Amino acid sequence: MSVRVVARIRPLLKHEISSDTIVHTDSTSGESSGKSVPRPNVVRIPNPRNGAESFAFQFNSVYDQSCTQQDIFDSEVAPTVKHLFSGYDVTLFAYGVTGTGKTHTMRGGKSLAERGVIPRLLSSIYRRCRKIEKDSEGATELHVAMSYYEIYNDRVYDLFQSPDKRTAAGLPIRDNGGKTIVCGLTERPCTTLKEFEKLYDEANINRSTSATKLNAHSSRSHAILCVKLTQTTGDRTLVSTASAIDLAGSEDNRRTDNNKERMVESGSINKSLFVLAQCVEAISKKQSRIPYRESKMTRILSLGQNDGLTVMFLNLAPVRSYHLDTLSSLNFANRTKKIEVNEIENEPMFRTTNTKATHSLPGPSINRQPL
Ligand code: ADP
Ligand code: MG
Repeated sequence: MSVRVVARIRPLLKHEISSDTIVHTDSTSGESSGKSVPRPNVVRIPNPRNGAESFAFQFNSVYDQSCTQQDIFDSEVAPTVKHLFSGYDVTLFAYGVTGTGKTHTMRGGKSLAERGVIPRLLSSIYRRCRKIEKDSEGATELHVAMSYYEIYNDRVYDLFQSPDKRTAAGLPIRDNGGKTIVCGLTERPCTTLKEFEKLYDEANINRSTSATKLNAHSSRSHAILCVKLTQTTGDRTLVSTASAIDLAGSEDNRRTDNNKERMVESGSINKSLFVLAQCVEAISKKQSRIPYRESKMTRILSLGQNDGLTVMFLNLAPVRSYHLDTLSSLNFANRTKKIEVNEIENEPMFRTTNTKATHSLPGPSINRQPL
């Protein structure tokens, strides 16, 4: 199991045009040695308590406002497709405060250029299926099926089931030979991108309806799409799953609303996100114990239990109104790697000869293995 943590800073929205941009990108090799500019892998943000200081967080990769949907797919997702076809599971998370671009990253907009990770992933899967079928002259059969569910208040709801047919208790989960399965979850075959998109859009309508019914915004549930790929050649069958997860908003709901329902929601959101952070950290440090059983989401995804790949997108808004939430997102994803440096105008931040810098960056960040 390996995990990449990738930060993505969204552009300013229309109503933010006049706001301060306080979140910036940088790279550890501040002094570019050659002609090529080093790729950003550091996010900088001011210390809210002391404007003279900034915090720096190192990730596997960092994307700024100028990055396109295509850039994200090409650099972070396309390399995982090969692994999926080799029989490994792939898990893609979007983590962040509501309004930072999780849904934009995962689902994206309607136009071709704005399509997010999910439609691009499916498109790439189908393209590869066609190629394998052709190259094997039909000897390898490929089958794609999807399930789509949400976890709200630690309960699992099938997004293929219309909201009025669901029971409040949600679907039961069960252990099945060491793997956790959701009982009664609908699985729909989808053989073309068009078919997938139709089913996906239908299920997304169920998501928003149920959110209204439960008197909760969809930002309080985790939406989990699972794409199961089955490859059969003779009597050999290889099954692997790509999961794409639009997580519940990571903001502290208690700050804005204090009613009982919100407390229950934020309690279960906080717990599952906390366990997720622990799993990500344990996997990245190659620890033998991954606490995946401690929340329903990490348990169902069996996070850390196989040789799969995980990519976590950390979505960030660049403006001051998100300052504290942004810091807490950065801390969530990179708790052990916070570095404090003095703010130095127009100077590369991590120049070791610079006497003003209080610390230099420590060693490698979370699992720097290339995919
Ligand atoms: P979240 O799902 O985290 O609540 P959204 O994906 O809904 O956030 O994004 C909030 C708003 O910002 C939306 O209007 C979305 O279109 C816009 N947005 C987010 N990321 C980008 C981006 N990279 N480029 C352009 N617009 C973006
Ligand atoms: Mg969203």
